[in-house]
Amino acid sequence: MSWIQDHIRNVPDYPLKGIMFRDMTTLFQQPQAFGRMIDELVAHYKGRKFDKVVGIEARGFVLGGVLADRLKTGFVPIRKAGKLPYETRTQGYRKEYGTDFLELHVDAVAAEETVLLVDDLIATGGTAEAAIKLIREGGGIVEDACFIVDLPALEGSELVRSHGVTVVTLTEYL
Ligand code: AMP
Repeated sequence: MSWIQDHIRNVPDYPLKGIMFRDMTTLFQQPQAFGRMIDELVAHYKGRKFDKVVGIEARGFVLGGVLADRLKTGFVPIRKAGKLPYETRTQGYRKEYGTDFLELHVDAVAAEETVLLVDDLIATGGTAEAAIKLIREGGGIVEDACFIVDLPALEGSELVRSHGVTVVTLTEYL
């Protein structure tokens, strides 16, 4: 789906030298492209039933909120450390640039609830892997994850698949 790339802005050397940042704010602000992208994901999951859509801060919230509504599920945020007000579980992870912590409210995904994990982009897969661990620690079932962009050279999709999760991506940068 290369049409998506027409709407993504490429910002070289952000946030660090050598990183090509795939800026999706330009995609989100185009109503037709944004709607078409959401329609593609909704069509893919037609007939599937999830208890929760879990979105990863911050661009995963934009996608996850809309997807949750369209798929008739609840939405749950996974946030960076210190942002969630109630009791949380925490998981450290390494990113394409730097180390960080993710948190999930302890009661946000109940044991045996099925989850669709959502973020804008998968690079090394460290972020998604930490999210999967957080969901599974509480007994949640995560077997599906979707991303707009894949950076296959960094093998994040493969890492996530190695955890038994089916990965859907709409476009990739080789
Ligand atoms: P990773 O954990 O390496 O898979 O990194 C994925 C997370 O970092 C996602 O939340 C992305 O939004 C962000 N990210 C990593 N690399 C990039 C990039 N080149 N352009 C835009 N976002 C990125």
